[in-house]
Amino acid sequence: MSEQVKVEEKPVKKYRKVSKKKVCAFCVAGEKVIDYKDVAKIRKYITEKGKILPRRQTGVCSRHQRELCTAIKRARNMALLPYVGD
Ligand SMILES: [Zn+2]
Repeated sequence: MSEQVKVEEKPVKKYRKVSKKKVCAFCVAGEKVIDYKDVAKIRKYITEKGKILPRRQTGVCSRHQRELCTAIKRARNMALLPYVGD
C-alpha cells in the first residue's frame, strides 16, 4: 500500500516590479533650495564616481533636479564632492 502524497503545487506568483510612485524628496521636505554643504544628502543623488543620478532613479522633480545639479556643482567646487573623471 502506498500512501498517496498530495503535492500541492503552489502557484508561482510573478511579482512584477511595481515601481513605487516616487515623490520628490525635496518637495516632500519643502525644500526650495538644496544646500550644497549638505553632502550627506547630495551623496544620495550621485553615483560613487560622483555622477548625478538620473531623475528616473531618484524621483526628483525637474525643478529640484536642477537645484541638485547646481548644488552638486557647487559642492564639487568646494571639493566636498569628487569630480567625474570621464
Ligand atoms: Zn521637487
